[in-house]
Amino acid sequence: MTSDRITRIVDAAESGDSVRARREEPHWREDAGCRGADPAVFFPASELSAVDKARHERTAKLICGNCPVRRQCHDFAAIGPEPYGIWGGMTPTERKRRHRRAQMYRRVRPSEHGR
Ligand code: SF4
Repeated sequence: MTSDRITRIVDAAESGDSVRARREEPHWREDAGCRGADPAVFFPASELSAVDKARHERTAKLICGNCPVRRQCHDFAAIGPEPYGIWGGMTPTERKRRHRRAQMYRRVRPSEHGR
């Protein structure tokens, strides 16, 4: 993905235009490591036990760990933001935590981000 494209996606997302942000998205899904995998692994049913959910999460993260488009997948989910499922090898809670950390970093070091 080019830096121009990333900039357009981030600009669109920051302006709240999630439709435009998604339109800018490249077709990274064609290379997804989870193509053909059971979606239930990435989106476990709410009625599953904690043990089964943890097993699904571990399986999904193993698949994501070998995925060539992990970064694109993570960024896509962060922009949404996608409130459910494993994306880019992260749970929703992990994605939120990472996003908060990135925001804090930008506030602490604004000159490195052109602001
Ligand atoms: S990072 Fe995981 S969820 Fe995302 S495309 Fe790759 S395998 Fe699928």
